[in-house]
Amino acid sequence: MWPEDSAGGDYELMAEQDCIFCKIVAGEIPAQLVYEDERAVAFRDINPQAPTHVLVIPREHIASLDEANDAHENLLGRLLLAAARVAREGGLARSGYRTVINNGAGAGQSVFHLHLHVLGGRPLKWPPG
Ligand code: 5GP
Ligand code: ZN
Repeated sequence: MWPEDSAGGDYELMAEQDCIFCKIVAGEIPAQLVYEDERAVAFRDINPQAPTHVLVIPREHIASLDEANDAHENLLGRLLLAAARVAREGGLARSGYRTVINNGAGAGQSVFHLHLHVLGGRPLKWPPG
């Protein structure tokens, strides 16, 4: 499909069918957005594990960190900076927060569209389970 055939813009070309996070990016399923820019979107986790639990994702479909490559270098930096911004604007900078990327089912990844968890608002133990 050529870009002019795509109603949803260029990112639709990269959207994976049946990827729930691509559908959130496309506005096809609702989410509580807390931040967005031209390459990243952040929204509240549907099953929060802390008082603040936000997911930061690229608009582009990348299945996991393991699928990222050198072409994604700037994008990965953007995602981290978006996570810091979300945390700061959520009042977590002083109390502390954690960013997590689960890579692979063995590490707990359940949605195969790259995402950073931003968790805060309660004491966080280390190491995680
Ligand atoms: P993972 O386990 O892959 O690291 O994280 C996936 C996260 O996505 C989980 O924390 C889960 O609660 C969240 N999640 C799954 N489906 C949805 C959804 O439809 N909407 C939102 N907002 N979060 C979701
Ligand atoms: Zn996706």
